[in-house]
Amino acid sequence: MWTADEIARLCYEHYGSRLPKQGKPEPNREWTLLAAVVKIQPTAGQACDRSDRPVQVTKEVVSMGTGTKCIGQSKMRKSGDILNDSHAEVIARRSFQRYLLHQLHLAAALKEDSIFLPGSQRGLWKLRPDLLFVFFSSHTPCGDASIIPMLEFEDQPCCPVSRDWASNPSVETNDNLEAPEDKRKCEDPESPVTKKMKLEPRTPDGTAHRQSFGSEERGPNPPNVNSSHLTAEELASVTGMTPSGARVVDVYRTGAKCVPGGAGDSRKPGAAYHRVGLLRVKPGRGDRTCSMSCSDKLARWNVLGCQGALLMHFLEEPIYLSAVVIGKCPCSQEAMQRALFGRCQNVSALPEGFGVQEVKIQQSDLLFEQSRCALQTKKADSPGRLVPCGAAISWSAVPEQPLDVTANGFPQGTTKKGVGRPQARSRISKVELFRSFQKLLSSISEDKWPDSLRAQKLATYQDYKEAASTYQQAWSALRKQAFGSWIRNPPDYHQFM
Ligand SMILES: [Zn+2]
Repeated sequence: MWTADEIARLCYEHYGSRLPKQGKPEPNREWTLLAAVVKIQPTAGQACDRSDRPVQVTKEVVSMGTGTKCIGQSKMRKSGDILNDSHAEVIARRSFQRYLLHQLHLAAALKEDSIFLPGSQRGLWKLRPDLLFVFFSSHTPCGDASIIPMLEFEDQPCCPVSRDWASNPSVETNDNLEAPEDKRKCEDPESPVTKKMKLEPRTPDGTAHRQSFGSEERGPNPPNVNSSHLTAEELASVTGMTPSGARVVDVYRTGAKCVPGGAGDSRKPGAAYHRVGLLRVKPGRGDRTCSMSCSDKLARWNVLGCQGALLMHFLEEPIYLSAVVIGKCPCSQEAMQRALFGRCQNVSALPEGFGVQEVKIQQSDLLFEQSRCALQTKKADSPGRLVPCGAAISWSAVPEQPLDVTANGFPQGTTKKGVGRPQARSRISKVELFRSFQKLLSSISEDKWPDSLRAQKLATYQDYKEAASTYQQAWSALRKQAFGSWIRNPPDYHQFM
């Protein structure tokens, strides 16, 4: 039907041809992360084909995001007009919500083909049954999925594991997507010590891994045990050796920190550094962030859907991903399964239509050319500082202004004075998605509104979110049973209208 390489190739081509230069990394100096949602649809006339021939499908990118940054808590705003989290996965998901809103408009106007069909209850829609959505990410998501056993045989030409690194917490900020700037003032970039510290911490999402990418050696061989509550050390001691005889000597690390107040990492040297299966917060620059890691967010979407609370008002069932495809980078099937749905597997008592999705996880052999690893390979002979690109690009398959380029959570070029003005809002900010939602609602005559919106007087963003009762029930079941320490924004951040 489709392969991981086909999905990756389609996304890279889309990135190359449909995204502007503005917001892309500066060549040979900056890198970025890429994510997308791809719609898969059987080619016309194929759906009823009962022969054994594989079903032919059309694949279409419906949303795309790039970005590596996340704002700190002190920069958050109560007006809903800033993007808190600009990691590519999150930008791609918000861009996907914009696409879904547009498709609901089409459905409600009964004008053109839409991905939605009328549901069985008044005002509700359902996804056409022959469609599915695949999530693509050029890298392993930050947080739990990035904690991957590292094997002895792996080719690590640039960075042999140093035991004293892990026990020296002062170096830890290097393990963060934004690290290079953090250290700039106190380090001589050319000193051997500094170099060593920069190279050692590694994250699978594009950081200092040095694997050879031969097809047989793609990614670590994951030990095959159920590890959801084991530390990586316990994991290694359970399995010890892989079938190929390699020993687990360390883990790839994530810059995402454990949620305060809960269980934490041991930070012991080597493979015992991280504890797996925990909720984590994205790193910021000094200022702590309130954004959960991409692993945690993907896990949440696998239970609550990708549409969010607002769109659930119009839907009979949540919109789930069928598969997640990862580009070429260190990635473990086992760590991905644990992070993306294993942690939620026992969540029960979800409202009708909701369920824990065991998404298919596949990896492509194709490398994203503006990823950190691609740049490092290219620049191997001329070392220089590589930095994450500060801008984020959002693209949605919508007819009007599909693009949105931001930096620090605002449209690129926004001045301090401009903040607060309507033109200083990203199209995928909370307040703008809420506007689109309200526009959709006002385009529908009131007698065709779903029951959840007619029962009470709703005004603020928070009111509308809370009124999505099945979604809220599912979210509360998920929190109670698996994600109790999830950091939630205080309610006054959702009081805007
Ligand atoms: Zn992330």
